[in-house]
This record gives sequence, C-alpha cells and structure tokens, in this order.
Amino acid sequence: MTIGILGGGQLGYMLALAGYPLDFHFRFLDPSPQAPVGRIAPRVTAEYTDYEALDKFAHGLALVTYEFENVPVEAARHLARHVPVYPPPQALEAAQDRLNEKTLFQKLGIPTTEFVAVNSAAELDVAVRKLGLPSVLKTRRLGYDGKGQWVLRTQEDVAGLGKNFPSTPLILEKFVSFTRELSILAARGRCGETAFYPLVENHHRSGILRLSLAPAPHLTEALQREAESASRRILEALAYVGVLTVELFECGGHLWANEIAPRVHNSGHWSIEGAVASQFENHLRAVVGLPLGETRTLGYFAMLNLIGEVPEPAELLAVPDAHLHLYGKALRPGRKVGHVTVRAESAEELSLRLRQLPPFFQREEFGLSAGTSGIVK
Ligand code: AMP
Repeated sequence: MTIGILGGGQLGYMLALAGYPLDFHFRFLDPSPQAPVGRIAPRVTAEYTDYEALDKFAHGLALVTYEFENVPVEAARHLARHVPVYPPPQALEAAQDRLNEKTLFQKLGIPTTEFVAVNSAAELDVAVRKLGLPSVLKTRRLGYDGKGQWVLRTQEDVAGLGKNFPSTPLILEKFVSFTRELSILAARGRCGETAFYPLVENHHRSGILRLSLAPAPHLTEALQREAESASRRILEALAYVGVLTVELFECGGHLWANEIAPRVHNSGHWSIEGAVASQFENHLRAVVGLPLGETRTLGYFAMLNLIGEVPEPAELLAVPDAHLHLYGKALRPGRKVGHVTVRAESAEELSLRLRQLPPFFQREEFGLSAGTSGIVK
C-alpha cells in the first residue's frame, strides 16, 4: 500500500519511518526540492496549487494524508475527489484560521480566551476597548512559531501599530496569564474509536518549542480528563481521522484551548521512545483503518528541540537513555534540525539525567533550569 503525504518535512520523515515496519510505502509532495524526506522516499516537487501535479501524485495511492497544516484546503478537496484524504479537509479549514478555530471551541463549550476579529486600525481600537490590555493581536492565517503576533500591553503599543498596520485579516485575543502551556495528542480511527496520550508540558523560547516534558509534571487525573473531553469534542465535530494536537493553557487549575494542529506534532516526538505506539504509528494506523495502538507511556520523558545546530553525538549518547534524531536538514539559524529524547524511570531520575546532559544543553535557551525545576517538587 502506498500512502501519499502532503508536505515533506521532518514530520513526514518520521511518519514514513514509523510506517516502514508495517510495509507501507510512501510518496511525498512538497514545493521544496530540499524537503528532507527525499532521503528516504520518492518525492514530487510541485506547488500544492498545481492540480495537474496533484493528479499525477495521487495516481495509485491508497490514501492521502498531510504533515503540514497550511496545505490549501482546495488542494485537499481536489484530491478527495479521487482518493480518500484523512484527516478530512474540514479539519484543515478549521485549523488554518484562528477565528474559525476559536469559534469552534466556543461552539463546543471548550473554554478559550475572549477574541474579536479585526480588519483595520479602527476595528482594533474598538476591540481593545472591549477586551482591554494586555491583549495579543495575531494574523488569522499562516502564523507559526510566534510569527505574525504582537503583544499589546499599552495604548502606545496599539498606536505604534498604526503606521505599519498589517494588511491581512487579524484576531485580537485577550492575554491569558497562564501557569503553563500544555498539549494533548489525540487519535481517532475510521470507525470513531479514540485514544489519548497524556498531557505534555511545553516550554518555548522566541516562539519556538524547545522542551517538552511527558507526562506533564504533577499531572492530575482531573486535568487529563478535561483535556480528553475537549479533544474528543473536537475530533467528533470534525469527523476527524488521524492524530490531532490541541494546544492548551493551564490557568487556575483548568484548561483553555489555544489552537489545534490537524497533524502529528513536535510536542509528541517523545512518543517514539516513550509510548507503546508513537504518535506517528497511531496516525498511520488511524488513516489506514487499523486498530489504534496503546498510548500508555513507558517512563518519564524530556524532548529537546535542536534549533540550527546539533550537539556532538558521542557526548550526548554517553548519557544513559538519551536518543538523538537528526532530520537530514542543512543547519540554519532558527531551523528545527533534530531533537533529543531523554528517558527515565521516575521524575527524580529524569531531573538527574537532564543535569547530566553535555554543556551544549545547559545553555539558557534550552530552558532546562526553568523546565526541570518543576519536574520534581
Ligand atoms: P500560538 O501561535 O497561538 O501558539 O502562540 C504562540 C505563543 O504565544 C503561545 O505558545 C503562547 O506562549 C503565546 N500566546 C499565544 N496566545 C496567547 C494569549 N492569548 N495569551 C497569552 N499568551 C499567548
């Protein structure tokens, strides 16, 4: 069986690695001739809007899925006329526009921050009067890793935007004073069966994920239930098939949804070593129509992102239960080029293992001091 994947980055790369033991074959489509999957699978280099290329790409495929959420919805709909496409294109549509996303949360009774659509400086003034400051102004589409966002703390910040007011649809969100950022990975199969990984705690630097701790330290059953209930409602509302990620803020002991990603996610990479079935395997099982795998965790995990540079492998791998994943990408500042997963038997041991990591990882940007101080209390 050959599975087509739209997007050829590291998420696609790891999907294929999880699929080869199940005897799946893969074909990728990505606009970039440098897409990392080129090392391990046939890759078509074409724009997502090139329908002729899409038709050729789809020929002989059992199904199409994606690893990139900004695939044009029309491209997914076009493919769906010829071949099953999972997750369904309506999931892309919901996730690509922050206004749709937050409206969906509201409709499903999932707590989220207050928000207002904004299309001009005048509308921003009205929205700021309604929500107050601080608030966060975001582009509705195509924002990622903190790009296309402005935290507005004072009226001067609001006025400062005036000269260079972004000429794209926007959303103003009330600033959430969260205690921490969490995410949950949820899977839904073709027959509606579901599986949930434990909540993960995420730490960012300059808008980019640096560290995930799984399960989230001090995770209570009540918080996990709250996350599962919210993600189940989203999965069902979208008739979802595959792995879905819900990014959440913990606030006053409860969860507020921030956004969804209709795909496997960086905060789930620990599951390769850390769960009975990884997020990648479960995404494939779901879209192919196989039973979902166990999401039970096999210890305590930290996942550290490698951004633009990689450590000396021998030094890192000398640390017990440290695993290195490199994506075969050219090293460039700000680019996710790999990740490291560290496993331990207990939260205490994880904290110790992280302190044993080479100096490369002890720099402030990895957030280990902030992240690990909370592992053990
Ligand atoms: P997003 O692209 O929505 O995931 O936002 C990127 C990061 O900005 C999040 O991981 C948060 O750290 C922060 N952020 C986003 N929205 C808000 C908000 N409404 N209040 C406070 N912080 C936010």
